[in-house]
Amino acid sequence: MKILIVEDEPKTGDYLRQGLSEAGFTVDLARNGHDGLHLALTEPFDLAILDVMLPGLDGWGVLSGIRHARKDLPVMFLTARDAVDDRVKGLELGADDYLVKPFAFSELLARVRTLLRRGSKAPAETSLHAADLELDLLRRRVSRASQRIDLTAKEFALLELLLRRQGEVLPRSLIASQVWDMNFDSDTNVIEVAMRRLRAKVDDAFEPKLIRTVRGMGYVLEAPPCTP
Ligand code: CA
Repeated sequence: MKILIVEDEPKTGDYLRQGLSEAGFTVDLARNGHDGLHLALTEPFDLAILDVMLPGLDGWGVLSGIRHARKDLPVMFLTARDAVDDRVKGLELGADDYLVKPFAFSELLARVRTLLRRGSKAPAETSLHAADLELDLLRRRVSRASQRIDLTAKEFALLELLLRRQGEVLPRSLIASQVWDMNFDSDTNVIEVAMRRLRAKVDDAFEPKLIRTVRGMGYVLEAPPCTP
């Protein structure tokens, strides 16, 4: 599988190229929009990862050029944390997914594999649900029973992970690597504190409870089956 990265920041570009190469992909890296678009239109890539802010032609220009000529190429773009308009614009212009910087490499890899598996047929997910809990990925908002819930960035990332892997018991080590982008087997206190705060906001005032601790194993988010 061949992946094109268009990223002008040397550190991020090299980090992505190295990580994806080690994961077994063939990777080409372009450092500006014009080179990126040229490569996208002349080489048989299976996926393109585009930064938005690029010298010369920006990520939108590259995306439009790609969509004009190659409608089937899956495109993921990288966006700044609070750039909600960017995310909306990207999806409107025909991107298949986006990732908010800074991101954990494991998260990028999971998204890349999903995109490659499904091609560019299905539209990008814009919200996640469990029972009456809703997480809006575009606007970075959470609500339960239609009541708005304010979460910190970490709590949001934690809830997003639990929702994406609904029904799976997630070990603390996995949560640490995905949400905090580090391995701290020794200090699981950080996770416990964040999890307690998240549950206080998402579960305490509502029924049914969605997040459970599985003793000695980790955490799971699960909506109980509907009773008719
Ligand atoms: Ca950039």
